[in-house]
Amino acid sequence: MGWRETVVSVGQMEQQWERVQDLLRGEIGDAAYRNWLQPICIVDAQQDAVCLGVPTRFIRDWVVTHYAPRIRELWMDLCGDAVDVSFVVQPVRRAAPGIIEPDSAQTAEVVALAAVPEPAPPEDRDSMTAPLDKRFTFDSFVVGKPNEFAWAAARRIAESDIAPFNPLFLYSGVGLGKTHLMHAIAWHIRERDPRRTVGYLSAEKFMYRFIRALRYHDMMNFKEQLRSLDVLMIDDVQFISDKDSTQEEFFHTFNALMDQGKQIVISADKSPTDLQGIEERLKSRLGCGLVADIHPTSYELRLGILESKVEQIKGEQSRPDSTEILIPPKVLEFLAHKITTNVRELEGALRRVVAHAHLIGRDITLESTQEVLHDLLRQRERHLTIDAIQKEVAQHFTIKIADMSSPRRARAVARPRQVAMYLSKILTSRSLPEIGRKFGGRDHTTVMHAVKKVEELMREDTDFAEEVDLLRRMLEN
Ligand code: ADP
Ligand code: MG
Repeated sequence: MGWRETVVSVGQMEQQWERVQDLLRGEIGDAAYRNWLQPICIVDAQQDAVCLGVPTRFIRDWVVTHYAPRIRELWMDLCGDAVDVSFVVQPVRRAAPGIIEPDSAQTAEVVALAAVPEPAPPEDRDSMTAPLDKRFTFDSFVVGKPNEFAWAAARRIAESDIAPFNPLFLYSGVGLGKTHLMHAIAWHIRERDPRRTVGYLSAEKFMYRFIRALRYHDMMNFKEQLRSLDVLMIDDVQFISDKDSTQEEFFHTFNALMDQGKQIVISADKSPTDLQGIEERLKSRLGCGLVADIHPTSYELRLGILESKVEQIKGEQSRPDSTEILIPPKVLEFLAHKITTNVRELEGALRRVVAHAHLIGRDITLESTQEVLHDLLRQRERHLTIDAIQKEVAQHFTIKIADMSSPRRARAVARPRQVAMYLSKILTSRSLPEIGRKFGGRDHTTVMHAVKKVEELMREDTDFAEEVDLLRRMLEN
């Protein structure tokens, strides 16, 4: 049924190619599209064959292994017939069709060498540093047990003239301070010795620059820029872990810089060994310096961070007309208890509460806080029931679930029961009497006592605090 023109012009092929590119862009995302597909153009087209020009041999190999099958599929869907898609290395972006034989890759490479490469657009000559956030300094970084090791390592690098360990590999879940520490290193070095140069880039930006340098034959310049740095920081390397052939080039560059004694700082969401899609030898190279992880926040650290953020917010808003915001300690404690995922969310919640108070012109109270953060808090506890908490805690302390509601008072069951009550209080929105009922019809004062007791023990005994925190995290996930 499908009607199709018998004579296919290059113009039509170009349209089809644009369509295929669009579809593929939707599948692989903008960044990958820009890196790999955008630079491709049609070199020659016949009715059922198209030859695509790829700027470098390296990009061609990558496109052929990763995208060629899908490109053929999409093209076939588009015109209903198999299209023979071939690739040649062809650095000139818009060549006149017909210059190159579709399958003579050899010739094309000779042409590639002879052709004068396009000059790289100005962006490639930017400095190696993405803008740094003014707020991310060592001064504003609150140190606690979960992050002190990473912090100490970052400090050490910021204060040393030669690399004390190389590379420094920082890793943690999102929003726990990796980027903050990297920016802090950069600020500190700049302040201490403005002659030292620091490069900071997200891994994606780094790869983008890298690919562009390859594409525009600007590698010398790119490497020169890298060589001129004293410290190079690459943030979130997990985002490049899937791109096989770029890795190869990336790590040659990486090794060369290490050999030149440049300090390198890398961050990722996983340890080097757990990074997926990265070759073993590269993983071991990444992990051969100092590996420092930032643990999830503790209650104490969250409270400390909130206190410091309150000061920061006050500083930002110190206009003569603005009324002083007062945040009761109870509210900060409440937030530190409830918003446990990461620091970014914690700060976001605090800012929301403050903004709301300003807008409405009312004081901040525990009630107003609960109201403002209603949706956020709700989301957290959607799936969590007291039954589930009792079950998890009983399992953890190897007692029977029945003991959660039994009258037994032996420490071995009473303590886990108190922990379960405490967790029910902080992780659900049940009232004290409701919680009491769930624990064998106990009085709300018993629950209150349990919560106080657990908090007190957590302050006194860090091992116990960690254990309770671990349980909380397990329940939240
Ligand atoms: P990551 O890079 O690990 O995802 P960020 O460094 O972007 O996390 O941190 C997220 C937010 O939390 C930032 O606003 C940062 O300033 C703040 N933050 C994280 N840890 C701390 C800390 N220990 N002290 C103060 N602020 C912190
Ligand atoms: Mg980050």
